[in-house]
Amino acid sequence: MIPIREYAGRDVAVFGLGRTGLSAAKALMAGGARVHAWDDSEATRTAAEAAGVPLSDINKRDWQTFAALVLSPGVPYKFPQPHRIVRMAEMVGVPVVGDMELFARAVQALPERGRPKIVGITGTNGKSTVTALIGHILTEAGRDARVGGNIGTGVLDMAALHANATYVLELSSYQLDLVKSLRCDVALLLNISRDHLDRHGGMEGYIEAKKRIFLNQQPGDKAVIGFDDRICQGIAMSLAAQRPGDVIEVSSDFVLGKGVSGAAGRLTDHIAGPTITVGDLRQAPALPGSHNWQNAAAAYAACRALGVDSAVIMQAILSFPGLPHRLEHVGEIDGVRFINDSKATNAQAAEQALKAYSRVYWIAGGRAKAEGITPLEPFFDRIAKAYLIGESLPAFARSLEGRAAYAGCGSLEKAVRAAFDDALASGEQDPIVLLSPACASFDQFRDFEARGDAFKSLVAEMTGSGGLQASA
Ligand code: ADP
Repeated sequence: MIPIREYAGRDVAVFGLGRTGLSAAKALMAGGARVHAWDDSEATRTAAEAAGVPLSDINKRDWQTFAALVLSPGVPYKFPQPHRIVRMAEMVGVPVVGDMELFARAVQALPERGRPKIVGITGTNGKSTVTALIGHILTEAGRDARVGGNIGTGVLDMAALHANATYVLELSSYQLDLVKSLRCDVALLLNISRDHLDRHGGMEGYIEAKKRIFLNQQPGDKAVIGFDDRICQGIAMSLAAQRPGDVIEVSSDFVLGKGVSGAAGRLTDHIAGPTITVGDLRQAPALPGSHNWQNAAAAYAACRALGVDSAVIMQAILSFPGLPHRLEHVGEIDGVRFINDSKATNAQAAEQALKAYSRVYWIAGGRAKAEGITPLEPFFDRIAKAYLIGESLPAFARSLEGRAAYAGCGSLEKAVRAAFDDALASGEQDPIVLLSPACASFDQFRDFEARGDAFKSLVAEMTGSGGLQASA
């Protein structure tokens, strides 16, 4: 844990007692603050109390006594409208902060010699992959890398600050909204597309939140920016005009004049001096598809900025084990490969999966987003057959009608068996059964992890009964 001493002896309100709120409350208590923790949900409050966090109904307290309101990133700060608690704080001028801001200030309070390095990663897609990949590369390079933030361990639950450590932090736009003091030695903005717009008051608010990753950077700190979408291109160009030499552009679409490219799976480095061909990303088993080549190029650029040798980075890219539920190879039966991409909860994520394979037996469906699978029409020719599950079944069937073969399966279990039978009967070489639902999971599963785990269990069961092997 990273104790927060800034509020020692003072009263602090903590609102929203999910994982982040609980860890903030504990870090503040460890630093000597008097914590007043609250949540609108009674069940959450009970769980917090059981975890040793003192409850106090801050709706009824005198707000003049609070030195700060620590807000969970799950609670609306500005959009669609500020939560009641935020308004209460603002009315009496109590500053609103998040866990990442508390971390940033704890780092700021250290003498320069004692300051760890910070790598911040944001973007609409690919944050977790890039965060985990950078952590893996740095560890392989012998560095003390600590991975957390929006992935895995909450930032204040990480081991105490250490001068030689490198903190590799995934940052959501919600967390960035609440950040003022964070300074990233290396800040990565991977890509921007339409997402979470309700929480940020439209695209402008969302872009502004993402740009906060570059706040407080000093000359010599590096900004790694994906150059494959228009919004990020604009951000990269205007930042490069202000801070020439500090911006490293990365792309999986083009070989850039300057920067890092993963185009066609070839990792090339044109950061400075002559072009270096670093290696073949198509050989990296856990990073299939061009979206992952963008991720690899970004991680490479960040690790080069931290002084890691090119060859060491490439070796680590090849040995990266990948993250569960993202194009994860979960087994093979009689030559049929099973890929778990349960994290693909919208059409845009599923598009990456369909682009990564030329022909798939595709399991899709669940609780659909407004656009359904219509944005995927250009990739329907890659679908050998679709196996539809969940409440989106009728709508997805309409979208596929006359364009691709499909079966209405309903349950994941039926879909896995039907897809396997068809893939096996096809006689094709190395056919792929892909779970990439393009939907949220909540109609049938607790979350996307539970859905992916169910898929893995079904594959493992079939492997067991068929006497065949599942790979890890
Ligand atoms: P995040 O943490 O931003 O949600 P993940 O690394 O968990 O991102 O990846 C989630 C999904 O987003 C993946 O399953 C894939 O479909 C898609 N994705 C990953 N990286 C990229 C990228 N660079 N560009 C576009 N889509 C991506």
